[in-house]
Amino acid sequence: MAEVPEPTAATALTVIDAHCHLEARDYPDVEAVLERSRTAGLVHAVVVGQLLKPGDFGRALELAAAHPGLLTATLGIHPHDAAEATAADFERLEATCALPEVAAVGETGLDYFYDRSPRPVQADAFRRQCRLAVRLGKPLVVHVRDAHADCLAVLTDEGVTRGVIHCFTGDAAAAAGYLALGMHVSISGTVTYKKTEALHEAVRQVPLDRLLVETDCPYLSPVPHRGKRNEPGYVVETAKKVAELKGLAPEALALAAARNTVALFGLRVALP
Ligand SMILES: [Zn+2]
Repeated sequence: MAEVPEPTAATALTVIDAHCHLEARDYPDVEAVLERSRTAGLVHAVVVGQLLKPGDFGRALELAAAHPGLLTATLGIHPHDAAEATAADFERLEATCALPEVAAVGETGLDYFYDRSPRPVQADAFRRQCRLAVRLGKPLVVHVRDAHADCLAVLTDEGVTRGVIHCFTGDAAAAAGYLALGMHVSISGTVTYKKTEALHEAVRQVPLDRLLVETDCPYLSPVPHRGKRNEPGYVVETAKKVAELKGLAPEALALAAARNTVALFGLRVALP
């Protein structure tokens, strides 16, 4: 008679967070956060550096250098901050993104929900970063809110074919436009919220080889952590929800998304 195996504790998923922010203002305890995230199954995270104020792109590169096995940095000027960016900031961005340790340009894009920078200024900064990514042969990390038509037009016009629409919250039609360009789509904790049926349908339709998962921490904590500060390890909950929508085992979805992230950003991460 075959022996019945003892029930074991749920095995941790192998997950990569495709987009997080770990600035000092939000994470004075970053080492503890990373340790907890590792325990939760995190094997790598893409840490996004952005212009915090003129002359200051934050600590993403510094953190990645301190955690070479766990973190890889990108650098960009967020549409919220486009109006604040100086010529010197753009020069520094261009020089820094050329470094081999910077995996991608961005996040950049268009945000017509908050409109924190005038739209033409957002568009100009977005186009400059599109051109930079194309020139450097690096992927582009795109932020878009209530601006899918204009965003798609800019990406098409600038010849961007490699990158990710991060924290995607659009519908299946919006996703299809980006997928047709060659872009990936990254899903955040918003997918675990109620009343996101259009996003759920988009997730069902995005091919498995184009899906990433992310936290976009410190905000947008997935259920059951909603309302608390987010952290990279919580991407496990997003992976589980996306797996459910795709009709896949969480392990399989998490691994597929991790592989996509490794391939897109050229991460040096050994996956099972
Ligand atoms: Zn972000």
